[in-house]
Formats: sequence, C-alpha cells, structure tokens
Amino acid sequence: MPFSEVIAQDRAIGSLRAALRRGTLHHAYLFGGPLGVGKGTAARLLAQAANCTGGAAPGAGHGYRDDPCGECPSCRKVAKGAHPDVTVLAEERVMAKAGRWEPKGGRTPSKEIVVDQVRDLVDHRLAMRRFEGRRRVVIIDPADAMNVQSQNALLKTLEEPPDDTTLVLVSSSPDALLPTIKSRCLRVAFAPLPQAFIEQRLVAEGHPAESARLAASLSGGSLGRALELDEKLLAARRGSLERVAALDPGDAGAWVAFARDHGEDREAAAELGELLLVWWRDVLAVQAGGDGLALADLAGATRRTAAALSPAEALRRRTLVERLLASLRQNATAPLALERLLIGWFHGR
Ligand SMILES: [Zn+2]
Repeated sequence: MPFSEVIAQDRAIGSLRAALRRGTLHHAYLFGGPLGVGKGTAARLLAQAANCTGGAAPGAGHGYRDDPCGECPSCRKVAKGAHPDVTVLAEERVMAKAGRWEPKGGRTPSKEIVVDQVRDLVDHRLAMRRFEGRRRVVIIDPADAMNVQSQNALLKTLEEPPDDTTLVLVSSSPDALLPTIKSRCLRVAFAPLPQAFIEQRLVAEGHPAESARLAASLSGGSLGRALELDEKLLAARRGSLERVAALDPGDAGAWVAFARDHGEDREAAAELGELLLVWWRDVLAVQAGGDGLALADLAGATRRTAAALSPAEALRRRTLVERLLASLRQNATAPLALERLLIGWFHGR
C-alpha cells in the first residue's frame, strides 16, 4: 500500500484517495506544509495512482485506483521519472544537474524555476496529446522556487488547464506564492509531524535519546529538518542557550556581545529563537509543576529561572521570543533584533 509510506497525514491522504476513487481529481492542487513531511512523495504517488495499470481495474465509472500498485510498467516509469505523461519541474540548477534541462544560451543554471522552464511546459509538453497514461500530472516541486515571471507564465494554464491534467504545486512556504496562483489551486494541508514521532524515528536511527529529543523539538514538525540537525550543531545551539540563560540583567555589555556573536547569520539567530521558545516552554512547565522537560540537560538553569520569575513574567519573555522570530522572518537585522529581545527581557515591563 504505497500511500502508507506517507505517515501521519491521514487527512491529506484521505481526501486525495477519495478524489482518486471518485475520479474527481482537481485540475490544480497546492500541497502545503513543512519540509520533509511527505508532500513530494504524496504528489508522486498521486501521479502513479492516476496512471496505474496493475491489479484489478477500478470499478465502473471514471475512478482511478486509490493506491498505486508500484509494480506495473506505468508505476515504475513514474518512479524513475520516465513516464511521458508525468512531468516534474524543479529548480533549473537541479534539473540541469540531472541532465533533464539545458539553460538557453549556455547561461549558468538558476536556483529558481525560470520562465523558460514554465514556457517549455506550457507551450510544448502540455500542448501535446497524452501518450499512454490516463491522466497527465505535472508536479512543481518546490513551487515557491518559481519567480514572479514564472508564476505569471503558469497562470493561464491554471485557469484553463488541458483536459485530464492535474498540476500539483508542492511548497513548504505556500504563502510566498502569488495570490493569483494560490486562489486557482485546491489547497491540501500537510500537517507538521508530531514531535514524539520524530523523536522515535531519530532514536530508531541511532541518535542518542537526548539529542533526538532536542532535534525533534527544534524541527518544526519536519523530519527532514530534524535529520539535518547534527550533533555538532545541536551542541552549539545548546551552548548558546546556556549562555543566554546565564546572562546578567545588569550587564548590558554582555547582552550586546551576545547579540553580536549570535546575529551574524539570520538563520542561526532564528534557530536560537526556536530553541528559546522550547526552553521557555520548559520554564513555564516547571512553574506549573510539570516534569518531562524537552531540554532535560538544562534542567538546572531552567529550574533557577522558573524560581526567579513569576509565571506572568516568563510568559512575557516567551512572547518576546515569538516577536523576535516574527521580525527575523520580516528580514530584521539579526544583531539588532536579538538586542531588542534582551532589552525587552531585562528592561521591559
Ligand atoms: Zn501500478
């Protein structure tokens, strides 16, 4: 049962399988959700199911198989990227490297999905008749790699798609797409994976329990992201957290130094922010009399902070971390944003 490869997405998969059975596939889907939760796999399985020729034929009417067999020639071709009616569009650089695309005029391949790629899709591939499959499927993954020009070049196709064609836009930041694109797609939400599930998977793959737990709490529900967090990075993040937990409210020079050291790279500052959220959640849990801390090896600092502050103050500081993350997403300068956080913590009301 290949759709069972996609774990903990019962709602998204359930609605897709029902549409397959009824033969009512939409002409354009937007699969949105965190990285590494199975959106791309689901898109490929949908393409396989809609063209699967194995096993018993689907019932009367126009339905498709609601799970691909994975074995028939059609399923194999989709898996190999060799099915003539299933097209996958990725960043120009990725497709060039795979030998599936050549940028015009010997240009260096872009890290975006460029308008030439979309025009090739629209003007050539989609203009041809279907070859052998029952339904043509175009997967654009990651859809947010399309620049504005590319998205505009796709609009008309989303509005008036060719018959028996489904486009699947896959994106971990669907809100970055143009509103005109989003409004023409049926949104299928893929949920963040449960933390406990990610933790178990990491432990099963041989990660020590403590770092599995930390990586799971930093992963934002993305197994892909949790797997990327290696031991060294986790140790560095933990060190930063210890340092911030030990900052002296009276020593402004130390805050400035901390903000400077951790503000060099916005992504690292954001990861520290995510970790601080987890830590404040632990502080609040201790204050509420709970146990089972996410950051068990910081329990000492956590308990000291929990004892020193009122729950209202801990909550206020946690809210300021949320504000830090929001301002980093809006491209705030990281050292200044971190400084503002610390001023808010130690001087705010
Ligand atoms: Zn099959």
